[in-house]
Amino acid sequence: MKVGFVYDPVYLKHDTGQHVENAKRLEAIISHLEKTRLKQQLTPIEPGAASIEEISLVHHKQYISHIQDVAQRGGGWLDADTVTSPNSYEVAVYAAGGAIKATEAVMDGEVARAFALVRPPGHHATSQRAMGFCLFNNVAIAAKYALAKYNLERLAIIDFDVHHGNGTQEIFYDNPQVLYISTHQHPFYPGTGSIEETGVGEAKGTTVNIPLPAGCGDAEYLQVFDQIVVPAARRFKPQLILVSAGYDLHWADGIALMQVSVTGFAQMVKIIKGLADELCSGRLVFSLEGGYNVTALAASVKATFDVLLGNTNIEDPLGQSPHRFAAPTITHLIKKAIKEIHNLP
Ligand SMILES: [Zn+2]
Repeated sequence: MKVGFVYDPVYLKHDTGQHVENAKRLEAIISHLEKTRLKQQLTPIEPGAASIEEISLVHHKQYISHIQDVAQRGGGWLDADTVTSPNSYEVAVYAAGGAIKATEAVMDGEVARAFALVRPPGHHATSQRAMGFCLFNNVAIAAKYALAKYNLERLAIIDFDVHHGNGTQEIFYDNPQVLYISTHQHPFYPGTGSIEETGVGEAKGTTVNIPLPAGCGDAEYLQVFDQIVVPAARRFKPQLILVSAGYDLHWADGIALMQVSVTGFAQMVKIIKGLADELCSGRLVFSLEGGYNVTALAASVKATFDVLLGNTNIEDPLGQSPHRFAAPTITHLIKKAIKEIHNLP
């Protein structure tokens, strides 16, 4: 059972200066995978550039040219959070291509599961707007590509980044072929992702938002996964599961206020892997989104690979939060999601 990973030094060339989303994130992941000898258990997948046709499965052609123009003119800020450098367009094209190649490797059976270690991240990018450090929506592009190339009827995107993936939601809001499930801190950036946002038309019910109060830790996330994510995925019966894997819900991550540990990530990944094994012959593709404490990020990504490989000894070098404050109760929220909004078993 091979587990693949996409990585290439090209991803370091999106130069964001002192920004929290910087090349050190991927450098920390790769160096940790090497130091722990985990990397030699993995199968490398070459990324390759996405074509304009592939990117335009999701983004308007004018928007794609706009990103290219800004980079060619030397880069600059696309919104208050999102900065580009001269190489950013090329890197973003490779990030989308990385998510596509990881998906192809899984769909073609070259590997059982794969993780695209790419940047810039993607889940905030809408069809025509860069935001929240994201230029092209890598997961959405891989999803559209998989639906088209492999003639799939249904796939699921599970997004556990601490932020709501507003871009991914918007792109598939009226698409009944894609189940989008997001757990995120709420209220928080970008403001979307309320429990009442469930999709429109034929896609009503195929967007599942689980807006969580600040302070949730492993126990709360596992409750949500067991009681909402699992039954929602089972009902939808996806043929492929894509994951927007953001690690900014780790307790040591300064960008948000959740209390998840490396052990918690491992347990969430185990549930997702179980769903893929049960529902879609194991077909599972992760794509990196957030995660800004590089030590926590590297340890969490390694734990993710350990679970995907079936390794049982999961190291958690950071442990639980030393300043753990009382977690909020989310029983009411879960009940509402199950009974009133999504009518889950
Ligand atoms: Zn995030």
